[in-house]
Amino acid sequence: MQIVFIGPPGAGKGTQSVRLAEHLQVPHLSTGDMLREACRQKTAIGIQAAEAMGSGQLVSDELVEEVVFERLSQPDCRKGYILDGFPRTVPQADAFDRWLAKRGRPLSAALVLQVDQEELLERLSSRGRQDDDRETVAQRLRLYDQLTSPLLDYYRQHHILHGIDGSGSQDEVFGRIQKVVAELETMKPE
Ligand code: ADP
Repeated sequence: MQIVFIGPPGAGKGTQSVRLAEHLQVPHLSTGDMLREACRQKTAIGIQAAEAMGSGQLVSDELVEEVVFERLSQPDCRKGYILDGFPRTVPQADAFDRWLAKRGRPLSAALVLQVDQEELLERLSSRGRQDDDRETVAQRLRLYDQLTSPLLDYYRQHHILHGIDGSGSQDEVFGRIQKVVAELETMKPE
């Protein structure tokens, strides 16, 4: 299965996507991790990406696409993969679809973790710090929504978007993910 994982900060996207990758025995590909590794190794891409990353900006679509497509071309991705952090924008989703179309292996699903704004604020600004922190966190969440809602629309229009209730314990959330994935597996045996 080829799965894209989407979720706001604090929703547990990292944990759940790693767990799903282990469950399906496919690679877990985090673009944040890949880009940080490229920075550490001072590759040409890493050097170019470092500036944007250091100032909290998104890395350019071209650079991210180069890193991701190169990784997806490795043999271990033939049996599927979980993408965590890509695509983040509609142009990236578009480029990804074009790339996939050439290789004849479409995405199986885009899973989006849905957690109530109030719960995210609680989780992220835990232990009752100042309003300041809460406002910074709220700002981050607004930014996420702004950037992500067109991406969700995109995958909704392509009929591969599945919302996952991200409230409750990690096991509860993973149970819901497994259920969706099991349904997908019966629909499209690969
Ligand atoms: P964060 O949730 O703080 O963005 P990540 O680990 O997902 O953390 O990503 C770290 C950084 O890597 C981001 O701030 C951004 O600069 C870059 N990055 C990761 N994925 C992408 C992407 N799909 N498009 C552009 N930049 C990305």
